[in-house]
Amino acid sequence: MSARKTRSSIVFAGSVNDELVSTIDQPARHVHSIFDAIGELATSNATDLVEAVVIDDTLLQNGSVEYIDALRRIDPTPTIVVIGSTSGYAEADAHVPTDTTANKLASAIANAQSQPTEQIHDTEVDLDEVLGISDASDYVRETTNLGDIDLVRALMHSPSSFKEVLIDLLKQQTSWSFCAIIDDIPSAPEGSDTAPLRYGHEEHGFLAATGSTSSDLTRWSRWASCWLNLARKQRQLKLLAYKDELSGAWNRRFLRTCLTKELQLARSNRRPLTVMIFDIDNFKHYNDRWGHDAGDEIIRELVRLLRTIIRKGDHVCRIGGDEFAVLFCDPAPPREPGSNHPTTIEILAKRFREQVANARFPKLGDEATGCLSISGGLATYPWDSSEIDGILEKADQRLLKSKRLGKNSITIGKDE
Ligand code: GH3
Ligand code: MG
Repeated sequence: MSARKTRSSIVFAGSVNDELVSTIDQPARHVHSIFDAIGELATSNATDLVEAVVIDDTLLQNGSVEYIDALRRIDPTPTIVVIGSTSGYAEADAHVPTDTTANKLASAIANAQSQPTEQIHDTEVDLDEVLGISDASDYVRETTNLGDIDLVRALMHSPSSFKEVLIDLLKQQTSWSFCAIIDDIPSAPEGSDTAPLRYGHEEHGFLAATGSTSSDLTRWSRWASCWLNLARKQRQLKLLAYKDELSGAWNRRFLRTCLTKELQLARSNRRPLTVMIFDIDNFKHYNDRWGHDAGDEIIRELVRLLRTIIRKGDHVCRIGGDEFAVLFCDPAPPREPGSNHPTTIEILAKRFREQVANARFPKLGDEATGCLSISGGLATYPWDSSEIDGILEKADQRLLKSKRLGKNSITIGKDE
C-alpha cells in the first residue's frame, strides 16, 4: 500500500460562483464574509483540516492586509487565494480570475503550495559549531518523558539535534510504530500515512507515521510545523547576524567570533592558523566608471570566485567596503604531498590573486576583462602573534605593504 495523504477542505468566502464551489474535487464550504471564514478556521479541527481559503476580492477592498493577517493568525497553514479581477494582493498566496474553473483553482492552490520559499541557504554549515558559540557541552539531552521544554532546550543549546528530539517526543507521546520527517511523499515507507508540515508559506516536508489515525497525524503535524518554523526562524536570525547582506559572505562579527574559537583550537591542537586580508585595487575607479551597481556585482562575483578556490572549512568574510578576510582553518592535511601548512596557504593565496586577475566580470563588459586586481597580506598563528588583534593587525600591515609596493600582490611574511 502506498502512503496516503490527508484529505482537507476548502472554504469559499463572498460571492463566488456556486458551480465552482460544487465542482471542486474536495469538501467545500461557502460562507458570506471574511469574519465567517475566520470563524471556519477557528472552529475547524484536526479531522476537518482547511487546505485553502478562497476569497472574493470585493471583500478585501477595505483592508486586505488586516483581513489576510487575521486569517493567518487563526491558522497559518491554509493557502490563501483571492478570486476576482484584481491581482494586487501581495499578502495572498495566489490569485485566480472570477471565471476560473475547479481544475484551474486546484492547480493555483497546488502551485502556490509548491512555490519555494525565499530563504537563506542555511544547510551548508552548522553555524553554532563553526562559531563555537553554543554551550552544547553543558547540555544533557533527556531521553524519557520528553515535553515542550526539551524542544526549547534543544533549540537553545543544540540546534543540530532539534529534529531528533522532536521525533523522539512524537514517538513517546503517540502509539505510532514509526515516525519520521521526510522531504516528499514517495519517500514515505509502505503502509505509512503522511501529512504536510507547512506553516504559512513555509514548507518543512511531510510527517510520515505508521499506526496513526488521520486526525491524530494532522494534529501532530500542525504542532510540529510550528516548532519547525520556530527552529528555522531562529537559525535564519542567527545567520543574518553573521552574514554580509550584499555578498552573502560572512561579516566582521563572524570573523572575530570564529577566529576566537579557531585560535583556541589551534592552540590546543598545536597547529597553525592563517588569516589573509585583502582589498580590491582601485575599486573607486570601477564604481566611478561603471556605476555603483556594477561595483556591487563585482563584490558578489569576487565572493563567488573565492568560494570556488578555498577549501571546505575555510571562511570568506567581507569586513569593509572592498576589504575581505579569509580564515584558513581547514584542519585537513596539506593537499600537496610534502608541503607544510603555510606553504599550502601561500599557494592558495597566490592562486587566488591570479584567478582574480584573470577573471571575467560580465558587468564590466569586454573592455574591462582581466583588469581587476587585489592586494593582500597573510598572518599566521603562532609566528606572527598569538592574539586575534595581533594577527589581524599584522595581516593588515602586510596588505598596506602590498599596496605601497605597487598593488596586485600578496605579502606573506618575513617582511621586517
Ligand atoms: P586602493 O587600490 O588603494 O584600495 O583604492 P580603492 O579605489 O580601492 O579605494 P579604497 O579601497 O580606499 O576604497 C574602497 C572604495 O570602495 C570606496 C567606495 O567607493 C567603494 N565601496 C565601498 N563599499 C562599497 C559597496 O558596498 N558597493 C560599491 N559598489 N562600492 C563600495
Ligand atoms: Mg580598495
